Amino acid sequence: MQDCIFCKIVAGEIPTEALWQDEHVFVFRDINPVAPVHLLIIPKKHIATVNDFGDDHSIAGAMVNAAAQVAKQLDISESGYRLVWNVNKGAGQEVFHVHAHLLAGRNLGWPPG
Ligand code: AMP
Repeated sequence: MQDCIFCKIVAGEIPTEALWQDEHVFVFRDINPVAPVHLLIIPKKHIATVNDFGDDHSIAGAMVNAAAQVAKQLDISESGYRLVWNVNKGAGQEVFHVHAHLLAGRNLGWPPG
């Protein structure tokens, strides 16, 4: 989608190191990390929010699978990590291309802010 920063990352128009990718999903480091490990897991296809997956739940599953694969790669599967999906402005979503944040490497408090 034109003017979508994450679509530009997927298209290679903004050079970004892929930590993991397959046909449907792309994983890269957040530019403004809030934890020692802060990755973004995105679908290659433009979907604005979690509310917009429609009937195709396979992409959400592929994103969760990607998170687990990268966690294994980074050796944080057992020590723990958090997946966060901000949905719409009220929850802090700023980029309207659906993404999961993968956070790890520090004590992650609960409840989250
Ligand atoms: P959210 O607030 O859930 O929409 O999160 C969007 C995230 O995208 C923020 O944590 C930003 O730091 C991150 N971000 C925005 N632009 C880029 C970029 N070019 N490369 C990597 N991360 C980005």
